[in-house]
Amino acid sequence: MEKICLKDFNFGELERWVRKQGWQKFRAKQIAKWIYNKKVASYDEMTDISKEIRQYLKENTTLNVLKLVSYEKSKIDGSIKFLWQLHDGNTIESVFIPERDHNTLCISTQVGCAVGCKFCYTTKDGLIRNLTTAEIVDQYIQVQRFVGLEPEKRISNIVYMGMGEPLANYDNVKKSVQIFTDERMAGLSNRKITISSSGIIAQILKMYEDKSFPQVRLAVSLNASDQKTREEIMPITKTNTIEDLMNTLNSLPFKTGYRIMLEYVLLKGVNDTEEDAHRLAKLIGKNKKRYKVNLIPFNPFEGSEYERPDEKRVERFQKILWDYNISAFIRWSKGKDISAACGQLRKKQLDNFISKDSLVKV
Ligand code: SAH
Ligand code: SF4
Repeated sequence: MEKICLKDFNFGELERWVRKQGWQKFRAKQIAKWIYNKKVASYDEMTDISKEIRQYLKENTTLNVLKLVSYEKSKIDGSIKFLWQLHDGNTIESVFIPERDHNTLCISTQVGCAVGCKFCYTTKDGLIRNLTTAEIVDQYIQVQRFVGLEPEKRISNIVYMGMGEPLANYDNVKKSVQIFTDERMAGLSNRKITISSSGIIAQILKMYEDKSFPQVRLAVSLNASDQKTREEIMPITKTNTIEDLMNTLNSLPFKTGYRIMLEYVLLKGVNDTEEDAHRLAKLIGKNKKRYKVNLIPFNPFEGSEYERPDEKRVERFQKILWDYNISAFIRWSKGKDISAACGQLRKKQLDNFISKDSLVKV
């Protein structure tokens, strides 16, 4: 039988589990502190927990679910891309992005993705599987351990913009957000967590109506300004029309400090014309305060059918939005030299690193 992993538990579950073992309730707080605050990698490091309990934990639970296969650090901006191996041999990636006054971690939620956006490398082989809560949460713990626990190294922001569609792995993503925002666990600020979705309307509504889903920021990958183009590059638009999507976003309860981010991947000659910029502005219409636009120049990969527009064109697009008083910024990819762009994480290089025989047990 697979051992349980403590990182699969939110605080309530951890507490219930601790009680079930016949231990006192405060043990849950202690264990959570060691895992999420001290970020220990072994039970032996949990020094204020009795030897008996530690022994029981060792025999009956697992602590680490990710095995570091390789990492690459960008010489341009210091971002670090990590490649992790899961217990079944699948691999995922995360990216640590140091910024002037804070550090962001971009995490994955699925191995592959079923959504099938034409410009995205992750979806090439479809969806392989959902990540468990522990596999999502462990990206944060392992990366923090790797970069160091000093205050200036602290990960304060998390973006769900790695491999996979977060809202298609709803339950595990929700629990990971509970763990990240719980004071007794990771204790991150809700406003510093962003979930990026391709725009599955039913799932967005579900998240907003779900009282136990902590309120975090929402980013939606709009990527086009009209139905036809969006349908072409994002086939889910057939059932989630651009009109319905915008109506849904416009109807969400609005709270200051929680502007919705509209992500827009710029594909040369496909969605990057001046006409597109004007149409996008009209689509946003009078709801300017509700949104900010994040323009992402396309990151080409081997075999991709699209091209990245040049800098001038990208800036022109942004300028048009600005003329409408729409907040818009350009996200030139981090770590271009290590292909660490969020949403463009790839497992291709894996072939160079490990063969089947060298798979490690986690
Ligand atoms: N599935 C979610 C989150 C992961 S993708 C989503 O689609 O939102 C994160 C972002 O990367 C999305 O906005 C997506 O449109 C963008 N993206 C995907 N492939 C890209 C590429 N090759 N170049 C630039 N951005 C890309
Ligand atoms: Fe999936 Fe997002 Fe890639 Fe679309 S852009 S295929 S939703 S990971």
